[in-house]
Amino acid sequence: MLSEFKLIDGIRRKAAFRPDVIVGIGDDTAVLPYGSSKYLLLTTDMTAEGVHFKKGAKAAGIGHKALARNISDIAAMGGMPTYAVVSIGLPKRTTQRFVEGLYSGINTLANRFSVAVVGGDTIASPHVVINIALLGQIRKKDLVLRRGAKPGDWIFVTGPLGRAWKTDKHLTFTPRVAEARFLVERFKPNAMIDISDGLAGDLGHILEQSRVGAELFEQQIPCNPGAGSNNALYDGEDFELLFTLNPAKAKALLSWQEKSRRWFFYPIGGITKASGLRLQKAGGGSKLLTVKGFTHF
Ligand code: ADP
Ligand code: MG
Repeated sequence: MLSEFKLIDGIRRKAAFRPDVIVGIGDDTAVLPYGSSKYLLLTTDMTAEGVHFKKGAKAAGIGHKALARNISDIAAMGGMPTYAVVSIGLPKRTTQRFVEGLYSGINTLANRFSVAVVGGDTIASPHVVINIALLGQIRKKDLVLRRGAKPGDWIFVTGPLGRAWKTDKHLTFTPRVAEARFLVERFKPNAMIDISDGLAGDLGHILEQSRVGAELFEQQIPCNPGAGSNNALYDGEDFELLFTLNPAKAKALLSWQEKSRRWFFYPIGGITKASGLRLQKAGGGSKLLTVKGFTHF
């Protein structure tokens, strides 16, 4: 069986390279040169029938998700999305109405986030597939990567997790750009990622790239209605942000949110020097978790 991780790692090791690339394969977006004070961000996500949406899902929801996944990756770096190209593969029997619905989902979200759709490609395909590539920008000093987590950092998430695929959340979620902008400007997280493959797997990427471990408190993990901590850890498709803050900033964030109530950031654990991911169980005791998240193969 193919391992998604090994596959991408193999591609990464042989990938064509230019010395001016700041961050290539391995983070939520690529980070590229863009003048003296900013970086250009570039990301792409493919959204396919039967994988990212069920056959029969609302066209506008599919369009929304296809773009929102990309915007979420820009948010995970702390950036602002800007320009998108949208490519679609459609079965011959596709209706005009479906395509209009798809683009109404894309354009409504694009307008909300000041993203311009500036091109794309159209092909015939046996299944519906949408690929969006999205540019973004960020001030150099605001950039947050997966690899900056430090022992002692507190771990936070921006919202509840689990069972997103079973509800409409995965087709309707709001990418956390506003929260990410607030965080990078006021608190500067040490590491950040968006949770697309489940808390365990995506935290795993931060741990691996930062060469640290973590401890999560089961009781503090916010869960969507009907979801338990196992759903939060392994389901995926939530597109909340996961970030780490040094203890002083973590405490400052908690006291900020006590007063402001504009957003709520949930503290769910801490980064440890010892490797591995440990869960402190709600009923007492702890167990070591498999870091693996949802994979496609
Ligand atoms: P995300 O869930 O944040 O979109 P992925 O898990 O899809 O991230 O990808 C992780 C990293 O691997 C990203 O940097 C992405 O650009 C890269 N990647 C994924 N698939 C490929 C591929 N086929 N070729 C090159 N890079 C890839
Ligand atoms: Mg991501």
